[in-house]
Amino acid sequence: MKINSVIKEIKVIDVNPNNIEKLYIGKPHSCMCGCSGKYYYSSKHVEYAEKHRGYPISKDEINDDKINKMLNMFTLPNEPENIDDCIFTTITNDKQYTLYLVS
Ligand SMILES: [Zn+2]
Repeated sequence: MKINSVIKEIKVIDVNPNNIEKLYIGKPHSCMCGCSGKYYYSSKHVEYAEKHRGYPISKDEINDDKINKMLNMFTLPNEPENIDDCIFTTITNDKQYTLYLVS
C-alpha cells in the first residue's frame, strides 16, 4: 500500500508503511516529549527506534494498527508538512500528527 500526500511545495510523496519508525499524536505546538501526546512505534523497526531514543521500547508502545489507521491523516485534503526528509507533520482536528520514517 502506498500513500500519496501533498507537501508544502506541492510535491507528491510516497510513504511506504514499511519505512515507518513511529507516529506521534498530541497537542499542537506543544512539547513533544510525550507529556502532551503519545508515540506509537511500528513493530518493524523497534531496534532502530530504541537506538534512536536511547532506551528500550515496551510492548504497549508498539501499535501497528494505530499507525495504519492514522495514515490517512497524511493524505489529502490534509497537507502534511515535510520537516525533513523523514518527518511529516500535520495539524487536524486540533491534534498534531507526526510521522517518522526510518532514514
Ligand atoms: Zn514534555
